[in-house]
Amino acid sequence: MRTPLIAGNWKMNKTVEQARALVAEMLPGLQTVSAVERVLCPPFTALMPISAMLVGTEIGLGAQNMHWEAQGAFTGEVSPAMIKEFCQYVIIGHSERRTYFGETDQTVNKKVHAALSNQLIPIVCVGETLEENEAGRTAEVVARQVCDGLKDVPKDQATKLVIAYEPVWAIGTGRAASGEVANRVLAEIIRPALAGLFDTPTAQQIRILYGGSVTAGNAQEFFGQPEIDGALVGGASLKAAEFVNIVAAAAK
Ligand code: PEP
Repeated sequence: MRTPLIAGNWKMNKTVEQARALVAEMLPGLQTVSAVERVLCPPFTALMPISAMLVGTEIGLGAQNMHWEAQGAFTGEVSPAMIKEFCQYVIIGHSERRTYFGETDQTVNKKVHAALSNQLIPIVCVGETLEENEAGRTAEVVARQVCDGLKDVPKDQATKLVIAYEPVWAIGTGRAASGEVANRVLAEIIRPALAGLFDTPTAQQIRILYGGSVTAGNAQEFFGQPEIDGALVGGASLKAAEFVNIVAAAAK
């Protein structure tokens, strides 16, 4: 059995004051749903104050990005050890980082290794663009992102990984994939790629999330699918009641 996981990606939203107010609003609701692993990923500046608010709860904290080097002359970057001071999770290779900041499968791979060797749980994002989807290239692109992004990860570390399948055309567009289509990508592309990298029993233990315009209204459609183990939620994670309702849907 894979424990469902819901992670909220706040992207570049919320000052510290606003972040504190949002967490205060959602915390009581989030704490009522213990069967689901719950993770908040605020911007870097809010990690320290939010980690203080989460002490004594079972709510996890994640960063939205990370550099792979331990330290040094990398202006503007944040190291694994710095993130580890506050977080248990880190989002790696989000499509917005791939599109706007030049992330590649190779930088994703370096970050995955750095996260695992610093005992951080990487939430590794994969997904095809609209153009790739319409050209019938989803399988090729997603399998490559999984295989190259996770290259040389040791099998005994693999079950700590979390994959998020986020078709780029569904992110922030209000145009979610259907549960059935997303499930098919997980069943026919991602899990077989994981089995090829590791082995079938290991692949069966790795959690795979769906992301892309998940709301409280459509969450059940995804969580009812056998391969989908939760969601990476963007816009809807900035609304307390909506996010709590998505978490509650994952518990059913
Ligand atoms: C995301 O940022 O990972 C995401 C899925 O965004 P949204 O839910 O807003 O589509």
